Amino acid sequence: MRRNAHQLSPLAATLSGQVSVDLSAISDNVKALKKRAKAPFFMAVVKGNAYGHGLVEVARTAIEAGAHWLGTAQLSEAIELRKAGITEPILSWLYLASQTSDTIREALENSIDVSLGSVHQLEVLAGIAKDLGRPAVVHLELDSGLSRGGARKEDWAALVARARQAELEGTLRVRGVWTHLAWADVPAHPGNAAAVAGFEDAVSAAREAGLTPELRHVSSSANILERPEFHFDMVRAGLAIYGLAPADHLDPADFGLRPALSVTAPLVMVKKVPAGTGVSYEHQAITYEPRYLGLIPLGYADGIPKGISGRSVVNIAGRRVPVIGKVCMDQFMVDLGPDATGIDVGNTAVLFGDPAEGAASADDWGAAIGSHGDEIINRIAPRLPRAYRSSAYQCPDYQEPAAAGQGNVA
Ligand SMILES: *Cc1c(COP(=O)(O)O)cnc(C)c1O
Repeated sequence: MRRNAHQLSPLAATLSGQVSVDLSAISDNVKALKKRAKAPFFMAVVKGNAYGHGLVEVARTAIEAGAHWLGTAQLSEAIELRKAGITEPILSWLYLASQTSDTIREALENSIDVSLGSVHQLEVLAGIAKDLGRPAVVHLELDSGLSRGGARKEDWAALVARARQAELEGTLRVRGVWTHLAWADVPAHPGNAAAVAGFEDAVSAAREAGLTPELRHVSSSANILERPEFHFDMVRAGLAIYGLAPADHLDPADFGLRPALSVTAPLVMVKKVPAGTGVSYEHQAITYEPRYLGLIPLGYADGIPKGISGRSVVNIAGRRVPVIGKVCMDQFMVDLGPDATGIDVGNTAVLFGDPAEGAASADDWGAAIGSHGDEIINRIAPRLPRAYRSSAYQCPDYQEPAAAGQGNVA
C-alpha cells in the first residue's frame, strides 16, 4: 500500500476534495523535455514536495522516464529520497552550514551532492567529510546576479583555490559548477547572456585552479524550452515537468506538455435563490435574478485563494462557472446560473486540471490572482488526500479491491 497510503476509500472521497496526480503526465513531460534538451544530463527538480505533487512518487516517475539527476532545495527532502530507496544522483542546494549539523552529516553519508557557495560552507563540509573519512561531493555555485545562494564573482577565486586545496586533502570533490539565472523566467532577457558569460569565466577560473568539474549547469524550464545555448552539461527542469507554464509567454501545450495535478471536489448542495440574495460573508455578491448556487467543500484552509472570487474557473458537468462571494475557510459557492439543468449534488467539480479536458489550469488560477500556477499548486493543503494514477505505471504493491475479490471498501 506504500504508494497509495493517502488514497481515500470511496466513502471518504465523497466528503472532501481530492488532489489527483497523473504520473503518466510527468513521465511524458520528462520524455518531451529530454528530447528538447541539448545537454547530456537531465535533472528533475523535486523541491517543495515536488511542487506539491508528492516527492517520492514524482522522483520515481521522473527517473523511470529517463531523468538522471534529482534536485531539491532542502537536504531533508534529499535524505527522504534516499530513505525511499532512490539511488540516483541527487543535488541539494539549501542548508545552514554548521559543524554540528546532523543533517549535513546524514546527507554526506547518503551520497547526496551539495551545493557550495562560500569558503565558510566549504570549511564546514570539509570538517564533516574528514570525520566521515570520505570526501564531500559538491557543485560550486556562482551567484551570477540572483543574489541568492552562491559566491559572487569577486569571491570566486578564493573559493576555487580553497576547493582545490581541499580536494588534495581528500575532503572534497568538485563534481559540478552551476548558477541559477536572475532572468530564468524571461529567456530573451539580455541579463541571461551576460550572466552566462560570467559563468563561463567562472568555469575557466575553476579549471585554472586545477578543478575538473564535469557538470556545468545553468538552465531551468524556460531556458530549456528556448535557449539551447545555455544547456551546458545538464539542465534542471521543474515547472515544465509538472506541465506548468515556465514563463508568461510559454504555453505548455505548445511543447507537448500537460499538467499532472488536478483538484476536484463533489458538489455538496445545489439550491435556487431569488433575485437580490446576498452570497457569503458581507454579501459581496448579490444575485440580480433568480439563480442556482452550488456549494463546494474546499476553502482557503485547503489553499483556495480568496482572490479567486468572481472568476470563472470551476468546471461542473462540462460548464465553466464562477466562484461567487467570499471564499470561506472550508467551503465556497459557485454560481450555476439561472438554469441548473443537468447539474446535481454529487457531480464532480473540477477546480483545475488539464485544459485539454475542459478544466481551468493552475496557470489560469494563477493569472486570475496576479500570480502563477506554481503558487496555486504549492499552496494546496497537505490535508487534502492525494491519489496517484498512471496509465503506464502500475503500483507493484497495490491491488484494486475489486481485482482482489474483496468488496469491503467501506
Ligand atoms: C526551482 C529551481 C529550478 C527549477 O526551476 P523551474 O523554473 O521550475 O524549472 C532549477 N534550479 C534551481 C536552483 C531552482 O531553485
